[in-house]
Amino acid sequence: MSERRHYPPIAIFHIPECPTLGGNGTAKSHDLARADFPHNRECPCFKLALTPIVPYVIAEEGDDNDHLYRPSDERPADAARSLCKARKGTHGNVGGDRELIEVRLRPLERP
Ligand SMILES: [Zn+2]
Repeated sequence: MSERRHYPPIAIFHIPECPTLGGNGTAKSHDLARADFPHNRECPCFKLALTPIVPYVIAEEGDDNDHLYRPSDERPADAARSLCKARKGTHGNVGGDRELIEVRLRPLERP
């Protein structure tokens, strides 16, 4: 069995020359970035790319801390748990030592 992992929230990918980044961030290969951030969106700066294929991107990481975990029906085979409905992450503390999970419980309805 392969090891399960936490999924980070949706990231925004930029081309390295993106004007909104002002030269900040580290570019990595697009394939590597896709593996690290399976859920991502492209910044409009992709329209400025000089080539149809963008070999390097800068990934702007998403944040899971502004909302509670709400499990969705989506669970990739290697995911530690279902993806959150809001940002497609698993709310695991990726690389950290403490997990931050808050789940709202609904009281059971009694007949
Ligand atoms: Zn951009």
